[in-house]
This record gives sequence, C-alpha cells and structure tokens, in this order.
Amino acid sequence: MSWQQELQNIFKTIPELLAYLEISQDHPSIFYDSSFPIKVPRSFANRMLKGNIDCPLLKQVLPVQSELSEEGGVYDPLMEDEFIEDRGILQKFQHRLLVIASGHCAIHCRYCFRRHFPYDEHRFSTKDWTILFERLKADRSLNEVILSGGDPLTLPDNRLETIIHQLNTIDHLEIIRIHSRLPIVIPSRLTSELQSIIRKSKIPVVIVFHINHPQELDASLIKTLKDWQQVGCVFFNQAVLLKGVNDTVTVQENLWRTCFKAGIQAYYLHQFDDVKNAQHFKVNKDQGLEIITELRKRLPGFMMPSYVQEIPFAGSKVPIV
Ligand code: SF4
Repeated sequence: MSWQQELQNIFKTIPELLAYLEISQDHPSIFYDSSFPIKVPRSFANRMLKGNIDCPLLKQVLPVQSELSEEGGVYDPLMEDEFIEDRGILQKFQHRLLVIASGHCAIHCRYCFRRHFPYDEHRFSTKDWTILFERLKADRSLNEVILSGGDPLTLPDNRLETIIHQLNTIDHLEIIRIHSRLPIVIPSRLTSELQSIIRKSKIPVVIVFHINHPQELDASLIKTLKDWQQVGCVFFNQAVLLKGVNDTVTVQENLWRTCFKAGIQAYYLHQFDDVKNAQHFKVNKDQGLEIITELRKRLPGFMMPSYVQEIPFAGSKVPIV
C-alpha cells in the first residue's frame, strides 16, 4: 500500500482503534469527545501492545479524561504567535526561518505543543511560498530554513521537489531542515523518489525525526533508515520527555541506542512544553535531571541528547542543567 493510501486508511475513531488493539472501550479514563480528534496510522498501531491500555505508544495518542482539566498550561506555550512574520512563516532564532509547510499530520500526539495552533489561518498557498523564497533571498543572514508543520512530509514528492529546487537557487542558504514524524508512523513514506530528491539537493537536507520510545522503531524501519543513512542521508532525533511513556532511564537508554542502530543521531530530549489539556504528560525538571544524569553514565557521549527547554525569547533552546 502506498503511503498516501495508508494516510487515507488511518484510525480516526477511538472504538475502531481499541477494537483493533483488543482493549475494552469502557475504560473510565478514556475521553471520547475531544475537539483534537484521534489520528493513528495502522502501521503505527501495529507496533502497539495488544490488550494493554498502558502501551507507551497508545498513551501518546489516546485521549484521556485528564485532558478535560483546564488547570495549568497555556494554549500557545512557546508564544509562537509573537514570532509570526507572515502567514505560516516564523522567525524564532537568528539565521533561520521556520515554515508551517503543512497543517496536517499523519498522527495526532496528545502532548503536541501545537495542538491548539490555528493551522487554518496559516494554510500555505503558492503565493505564500513565493513570499518565503523572496524573504530568504533578500536576507543574507538567513542560512537555514526549517520545513515544519503539521508535518511537511504530508506534501507530495513532486511538491517537495519543487520547493527544494527553489531553495537551492538561494546561494547563501546552507541547510534545509525537515521536521517530521511521518516516516516513523508510516514507514512507506520513505519512498525512493523522496530519497532521490534529498540526494539531488546541493544544499544539505537534514531530517529531524520525532521518536519518543524504542518500540516505535521496529527491525524493518531500522533497516530502511540505516540503508538511507548509508547513501548519505542525515537523520537526527528529538524526543519529548513524557510521563508514563519514556520517563525512566531504561526506556531512555533503549531509545537512544535504538536510534543509533538506525543511523539516527541524538539531538534533543525536550522538557514538556506547557500546553493546556496535556498536563498529565508533564515530568518535573528535577526528575528529568535525575534521568539525564544517570543516562550519561550509561551511554557514550555521541548517543546523548541535550536535555533542553524552549523558552520564548531566550534566543536559543535552553539546556537544563
Ligand atoms: S506536529 Fe508533530 S507532535 Fe504535533 S501532532 Fe503533528 S506529528 Fe505529533
């Protein structure tokens, strides 16, 4: 099945997902009426534990009653509204622009800091891409562009090819970065066309994945990613520290070792961004520091992520030490 067909065929209701996982639909913790609907690709559900409501992959996507709490958190924890320059274009840090290249994701992660983001107001049209290219051309201090979202890899390959081709005409651009979770949740997104687009780019294209738990990487996906790395593709991972998902040293150790096996370099372990309706995922910083201190004893330095927090207007990600 093509990745586009898999995208059409995702679980969009809780009963069909739970029936597939052989889990009772009467569990009192489940929240059926969230305005942030569920979206779960079948290939990701295949990696979940059957019959186990505490599966760390399921926990990332299953709406629970705790989301009803209005206590704590804010709708826009990174104050991104303050950094919007134009429709879908944000400048949060020097030298780089972030683009909401697509408002769609293949999966809805309950802890997402953009779960309340007004994607409808930032739908990128052809005209907006032109504005972006002109903006990049006009400002030689901008040497990096981040295609983000949503998930930029929901765009078709021919669209991505045009975008990357246009970016290659900007001579001072040094890095094209793609932030994506799609190839992790639907591995068939790693098409040979996509690989060829990335390899053809004269400007290095770096893909930063979002993987939170080692169970997200099965043997077949590890092999595909390793094959891509061996032909020169560069992958990093940024994870979020999440209560009940990956808040133990053992899971963290397995996560970063598994990433290494797949040719993915450790980048960030993010402190949870304080978004409203997802406070049950929050791990306090003291506990995070204990985990990272112990992790440092277990992993070689090149497998260690930086434990960071994004603080609006800080000018960079802030290391938690
Ligand atoms: S933007 Fe990333 S973290 Fe947020 S829902 Fe989409 S895939 Fe999940």
